[in-house]
Amino acid sequence: SGDATSVMLERIEQDNVRFLHLQFTDLIGMPKNVAIPVKQAEKALTSGIGFDGSSIEGFVRIEESDMVLKPDLSTYTLLPWGPREYTVARFMCDVYKASSGKPFEGDPRHVLRVAMEDAARDGYIFNTGPELEFFLFRMVDGRPTTLFQDVGGYFDLAPTDLAEDVRREIIIALTEMGFEIEASHHEVAESQHEIDFKYSDALHTADNVITFKFAVKTMALMRGLHASFMAKPIYGICGSGMHTNCSLEKDGVNAFYDPDAPRQLSETCMHFIGGLLKHAKAITRVANPTINSYKRLVPGYEAPCYISWSAGNRSALVRVPTPRGNSTRVEFRSPDPTCNPYLTFAAMLTAGMEGVRERIEPPASIDKNIYHMTLEERAGAGIETLPGDLYAAHQALLADDLICRALGPHVVEALTSVAEAEWESYRTTVHPWELDRYLATY
Ligand code: GLU
Ligand code: MG
Ligand code: MG
Repeated sequence: SGDATSVMLERIEQDNVRFLHLQFTDLIGMPKNVAIPVKQAEKALTSGIGFDGSSIEGFVRIEESDMVLKPDLSTYTLLPWGPREYTVARFMCDVYKASSGKPFEGDPRHVLRVAMEDAARDGYIFNTGPELEFFLFRMVDGRPTTLFQDVGGYFDLAPTDLAEDVRREIIIALTEMGFEIEASHHEVAESQHEIDFKYSDALHTADNVITFKFAVKTMALMRGLHASFMAKPIYGICGSGMHTNCSLEKDGVNAFYDPDAPRQLSETCMHFIGGLLKHAKAITRVANPTINSYKRLVPGYEAPCYISWSAGNRSALVRVPTPRGNSTRVEFRSPDPTCNPYLTFAAMLTAGMEGVRERIEPPASIDKNIYHMTLEERAGAGIETLPGDLYAAHQALLADDLICRALGPHVVEALTSVAEAEWESYRTTVHPWELDRYLATY
């Protein structure tokens, strides 16, 4: 790796890099950043850069707050905006404890690495491909609003789709950053968009999700717009999801494909679905981590609320898109873009791997629109419901040993304090809805 380091240092010099951004994420998936002048590059790449972890959300442990950031060389990316005279580059970093030199258990990237190493023991690589949806809102007096920038709808084209220029600029920037963009379109709601990029192993995809959100926000802001990844910014219209397509790969081959099996889905695929459904409630805590996330998981807006799977049905939690062969994948539809992708992918993989190892059969697929089924019909078909709010989701996590173990005690403890604080604040606040409903009446 001495070689890799000197190759990287040369590249940094050739690229005329003046500053390096060392990035990592906190518990709730917010990108954090230490900027260092390029003079420090050699030190950063060889021994890492120290920082105080005690003021980072979910890192808090005053007694062991000295941490070290070690750049992952495979994540080197030039940031395409900013001054032209010199360049800024960034690395995603792994977080280590300064005292012991060991990986820090509260680093979300570490949690995902551990889950992936576990799957690798059976020869599997976990690939994920997320579909991030977001709104472009107008800013007024420098503050984000929920005013639409356009009134286009699904797959609309300019001139209705005023956002086309912004979207194109975003895509150009992402491409310069190494993203392979597969598709982009106007989503169902006014001002709502989706940009899909190529799948990769879950660790690099999680890095990409963080980079994606921050690039989209930056590009939107340069056009005076606010890109919001909030799950359900407006009542009565679609929310924004982060459907996650996923598959297992073994010996370079897609392990979900079996040309001779029913629906051409391998046993591994079926068992993976079995595991995902079994642990769906606990996964919800990390896939849908905000109070607002649960306003999206309601019937009628193509977001899932029932624990079921299907080949085509968009009301199901797990859908199997049509492509087969090397593109065989399952689409897990509950995550929203406020999730921490590292923790979400780690929970999904752990659940799926238990399914594969324990040969968990999924229930029968539900091929009708579940939104239209009555409570009795759903009960008869054994269809359970996802947790209805953050509190219930957190309880479901605490009740699930497997997912708690995958996240580790440090992360579960930190998630508990976040959930308690959020819930208490929400529960005790008097919301506009209550005033509308009761003030004049009582
Ligand atoms: N916006 C929907 C959601 O909340 C998904 C729409 C789609 O199927 O792409 O998940
Ligand atoms: Mg979509
Ligand atoms: Mg989708």
